[in-house]
This record gives sequence, C-alpha cells and structure tokens, in this order.
Amino acid sequence: MPVKKDPQPPRSRQIINLLFLISTGFLVVNLLFPSLFGPSVPREPYSMFIHRVQDQEVVRASVGQETIRYQLQGEDGEPGQVYETTPIFDLQLPRVLEANGVEFAAVPPPQNRWFTSLLSWVIPPLIFVAVWRFFIARSGGAQGALSIGKSRAKTYVEDESTKTTFEDVAGVEEAKAELVEIVDFLKTPKRFTQLGAKIPKGVLLVGPPGTGKTLLAKAVAGEAGVPFFSISGSEFVELFVGVGSSRVRDLFEQAKKQAPCIVFIDELDAIGKSRSSGGFYGGNDEREQTLNQLLTELDGFSAGDTTVIVLAATNRPETLDPALLRPGRFDRQVLVDRPDLKGREAILNIHAQDVKLSPEIDLKAIATRTPGFAGADLANLVNEAALLAARNNHNAVEQSDFSEAIERVVAGLEKKSRVLNDSEKKIVAYHEVGHAIVGAVMPGTDQVAKISIIPRGMAALGYTLQLPTEDRFLRNEAELKGQIATLLGGRSAEETVFGSITTGAANDLQRATDLAEQMVTTYGMSKVLGPLAYDRGNQNNFLDNGMMPNPRRIVSAETAKEIDREVKGIVEEGHQRALGILKANRDLMEKITEQLLDNEVIEGQNLKNWLSKVHLPEEDMLAA
Ligand code: ADP
Ligand code: MG
Ligand code: ZN
Repeated sequence: MPVKKDPQPPRSRQIINLLFLISTGFLVVNLLFPSLFGPSVPREPYSMFIHRVQDQEVVRASVGQETIRYQLQGEDGEPGQVYETTPIFDLQLPRVLEANGVEFAAVPPPQNRWFTSLLSWVIPPLIFVAVWRFFIARSGGAQGALSIGKSRAKTYVEDESTKTTFEDVAGVEEAKAELVEIVDFLKTPKRFTQLGAKIPKGVLLVGPPGTGKTLLAKAVAGEAGVPFFSISGSEFVELFVGVGSSRVRDLFEQAKKQAPCIVFIDELDAIGKSRSSGGFYGGNDEREQTLNQLLTELDGFSAGDTTVIVLAATNRPETLDPALLRPGRFDRQVLVDRPDLKGREAILNIHAQDVKLSPEIDLKAIATRTPGFAGADLANLVNEAALLAARNNHNAVEQSDFSEAIERVVAGLEKKSRVLNDSEKKIVAYHEVGHAIVGAVMPGTDQVAKISIIPRGMAALGYTLQLPTEDRFLRNEAELKGQIATLLGGRSAEETVFGSITTGAANDLQRATDLAEQMVTTYGMSKVLGPLAYDRGNQNNFLDNGMMPNPRRIVSAETAKEIDREVKGIVEEGHQRALGILKANRDLMEKITEQLLDNEVIEGQNLKNWLSKVHLPEEDMLAA
C-alpha cells in the first residue's frame, strides 16, 4: 500500500533548526568552559596570595565571593602580572589588605557581567528546549517543535495496482461480512440515512495477534475508496502531557475535513486502558487525557453530516476502558479469530500465490497440520518453506519443504549444534519413546507422527510430535486422562528403565498438572467435587488461553484441599497407567529406542508399524 507521509519539513526550517542547535551548543560550551573564551588568568593558592600581600607585592585587588583577582607591583611602575585565587572566608582580609597598602574593591568589575547574567537567564530554557526536542525527535522522526501536537496519522491513498481488498483476507468470514456492511455505509451513506438509520461511528476489531486485523482495516479502506487515516495507539502515548490529546484533536480535525473517510487506530489498548486499572505508572495523566479527548471526539461529530468511521483494533479488549464501548462510541465489536481448517487453506492459497509451488503441493494437508496458526503464522510458514526450497536447491516449493517449515515454525529452529552426550541421548530417547508408546494406545485422535532426539528450540531436548487429524473443539474425560498419561509417559519411561528421573520432564509435569486442574475446576469432571466451576472462567476464550490460569473462586479450605487431592489423584492415576503400559511393552520400548538412537528420528510408516504393536495391559483395559 503506498503511503503518503507528511511532507518533509521545508529546507528553510531545517536551516533554522540547524542554526538553533549550533548556537545552543556554543552557549552551553561557553557556560561550562568560560576560560576557553574569556582571557585566561593564572591562578594561585590563597596562601600564596596572602604571602604576596604581606610582602607588599600586590598593588590592587578585587575581592569577590568566588574569586579574588589581584595585580602585582610591576617593575618600573608598569602594571604587573594579574592572578586569581579562590578565597576562603576571612573577615580579617580587608584589614590585612589595608595594612599592606593594597588598593581594593569589594566586587570585581567583570566586563562581561551583563553577558553572564543574560546567559544564566537564557541558557536553562535553551537546554530545556534542546532536551525536549531531542525526545520529540526520538519518539517520532524528525519533526519540528512546532508540529508536536500534530497527529502523525498516515494517509493511505489507494493505488489500483497495490491496494488491499477483501480478496487478500481469508479465514475470517464473519468479520469480513460485518466490514462489507461498513464499506456500504461509506459508499452510499444516503441509502441508510434516508431511512433514519444511524451510521455506526466506531467499530472495534478484536482478536489475537496476527489474525489480520490491520489487514482488514486496510481492506476496508481499499474497498470503500475513501481516505484512510491510520495511527497506532502507541504513537499517542508521549512523554509530555497534553501532546497525546492535541494529537487526537488534530487527527479528527483532518478527518472531518476529508469526510467521508476512515480513521484507523491500531493497538487501541495503548490509550484506551481502563482508567481505573491505573496501569503500570499508577494514574497516567497523559493517557487519561488522551483517552478523554478520544471520547470527546467520538461523541463530538454527529453521524448525520460527516461520515467518519472510526475503526480500531486491539488484542486485549478486556483492558479497555468501559467508556469506550458505550453506545455511540465503539459499540460494534467484530471478532477476528484464528482461522479454522478451511480458513487456513484459504489463507495458504492467498500467500502461496507469491511463491512458485510444485504442482503436487497439497495445501489442504498443510492446513490440517497447522491448527492454531493465525494468518500471520501461515504467511510466515509459506515464506519459510520458500526459503527452505531455495536452500535445498529445489526448482519449486515442495511438500517436504513445507513439512520442514512447519516443524521449524512449531518448535523453533533445529539446532543440531547442541550436542547431547551419549548417556543424555539415551535418557532422552527412552523419554520420547515413552511418550509415543503411551500416546499410541490412548483414546483420542492425535496420532504420534514423529519422535526425534535432535534438540530444537530453546528448551526441548527431544520431542514427540503429535498431530491432530482434525480440529477438535471438544474432548471428553477419557481423552483428557489419556493426554495426561501420555504427558507422563516420558517420565515414567525414565523411571522404568533407569529407576531415577531427570529434570527433563518438568514441562510435561506442568502441562499434565494444568490439565488435571482444569478437569477439576473448569470442566467439572471430578465425581467428588461435582459439576461446579471452581474457577472464575475465562471471559476471553478466543485469546491465548493457557497463558494465565483462570482465577480461582473463593472456596472454603476443605474444598481447596479436596481440589488438591482430586488433581493429585488424576495426575497420579495417569502416572500409574503410563507405568503399567510401559512395563507391559518393555521389549518393544527397548527396540524402538535402539532404532531411535541409531537414526535420531523415527517417523511415518515406520513409526506407525512400531506403534501398532503396542498393547494395553490387562489392568488398564479393566479401568477403561
Ligand atoms: P493483526 O493486526 O491482527 O495483528 P496483521 O493484519 O498485521 O495482524 O497480519 C499480519 C500479516 O499476516 C498480514 O499482513 C497478512 O500477510 C497475514 N495475514 C494475517 N491474517 C490474514 C488473513 N486472515 N488472511 C490473509 N493473510 C493474513
Ligand atoms: Mg495489527
Ligand atoms: Zn517429555
């Protein structure tokens, strides 16, 4: 999208700025090192001065508080050398001087006194202004001090060849449908207003990062063919009180002049944070003023005469000030969620147009393997695959490049350079095979697709890749318990084989415990505690859940104890199941591990063959 930025400051202003800086610099240097510019006078210690006075060498002295300047007797009546000294507080001095015939005056007569005092008035403000300008320049490009309050909104003027349209966005069909309506408002406002309908003013796009909120806003502008002012919320948050709010005012002034048009505020949460929450700095006056100004502007223009639609985007709607969401402000909220299987395929299709694909590429299979990827992740995946294809000297991007790219994106870059020693390798191998064997016989649809002991990313030493065969939204109790047992399979294998455990299972335990806790407190799956939700629920389920545990309701001490016992029971049950399965399949475990140690990776049909031999021990079949 072509961006028309604010024009460069004119040349004359640049020159003025330069002169300003030079003169400021000169004055500062002059102040700090006056001796560089004034005549320099040799200094002597005060004791030396007193000696000279007593020896009657001194003819005259000017006594100031900070310096005493004195002139010696010259030869043949000529005026002699001038010295300075730093006095100590000495009430006897006038008497001593008089007694020794020194002609003296109380205040030194500096020729540049008016100049110094002028400097002391002029310099501090100059320094202040210089510092101020420095921060302004740093926080927003080289703009003159005069334009501080001006909004830096970029105006996008669409150009037929590169404009973004709804064609460029996929996988967020509901959001698209809502925004198509907005485009209609902008194109033919009369159609709506003549029926008395009010055109919405504020539309808030809400969703996780990378799902295409910014992209959608640009598409609205491209489709509607109206000016599009875009500014990011963080650009409002400035060091100086009042700047943010004047910027908002200016932005809306510009917009009203160009109506019908769209104002897009990206990352609204940066200014729209709830005033009660206070934020990191406690009450942030600046942000509050900016927010108030934004509210005023939203209320200020009436939908009738000017069609200015304010789009905003946020991935943290829960932090927004409720005042923003009131009717007449951002009263429409459009959810931009992560795409489902079909959506992912469509997004892959869009981005695959930019790269050369080999004809046998199966985008659907790639979409199947990437649940949870947002649009931006998929765009990144296509690019990564293209980079890999180039590195592998392929003529076009092949399926294998995509497979590798998925692994990279999912698990971080392969790090062959991190070397495990042999005994560590053995432990990791048993650990991963343990996950795979337990996972193979657990209910649910995630199939183990790959076991590897090549370290990757930051944390994982080895990994077992479980791929869902479809998007799943519901899981039953048996599946969750199976997942917990699978997670504990790694640690149980270490226990079975070595009789001891390592630190490598920490993350598995974390996830298993989280799951068990959710079963008890969120899903009501505990018989003892019943179908109660002991957590407060997650109001924003579409956001990255799992990042923060849900807050627990206030429960009695007994209930808390009961919850702990139930969680522990579920995890321990999974542990025992995993141990049982591994013991029953001990020989198989040895064989798979041996092969894994040889090849470092087992996947595909080979892995399937191995895992089809896993059998459930009797006691597990009874339990299930
Ligand atoms: P957000 O603003 O929601 O964080 P962006 O709109 O900035 O996400 O998305 C970043 C990039 O990811 C886009 O420029 C686009 O290339 C790609 N992308 C994201 N979502 C989609 C989508 N739904 N369809 C196509 N491309 C997408
Ligand atoms: Mg964005
Ligand atoms: Zn593990």
